[in-house]
Amino acid sequence: MHPNKYGHRLEWWDVPCGEVCYLCNQIQESHDHLLIGCSFAKSIWRWFRGKAGLDGIIDRIEYGSNQWNDVVNAMAGTVCNKGIWSIIRRLVFSAVIYHLWQERNARTFKNDSSTYEVIAKRVFEVVRLRLMGLHVRKSMQSHSAAKVWNFSFDDGGDSQLSV
Ligand SMILES: [Zn+2]
Repeated sequence: MHPNKYGHRLEWWDVPCGEVCYLCNQIQESHDHLLIGCSFAKSIWRWFRGKAGLDGIIDRIEYGSNQWNDVVNAMAGTVCNKGIWSIIRRLVFSAVIYHLWQERNARTFKNDSSTYEVIAKRVFEVVRLRLMGLHVRKSMQSHSAAKVWNFSFDDGGDSQLSV
């Protein structure tokens, strides 16, 4: 996997930062800060502990260098396959980033704000809907995922897992 896979998909990467962060109102905004350094962002990541197969990444976000590149590299080092937890990990990772940016823009341009918990639950729901749209093969893994993410799946045939 290309280490910048997630960075490349972010069209807003070149948007200038520099104001005080709209999420915490404390620190000067930067991409590193917004996505992982910010206390607001950390709270959202932390909310997904035990739910998304991201605990190693979340540890890095909590205790690491606060460098986005480190997190992307760690993410690139995780197993990337059609396993349900691999899919959940990638969906949550992308969705948290997207919603952090949405929240930042809502606060910046619309003077509209949500709590970290509301955003975390919004991400959860978005990912849950995606999971419900998958054909998931019956396995220990998919059972554990279905329990955490509250989705059901058909267990017939040998349908391939697909996103
Ligand atoms: Zn902040």
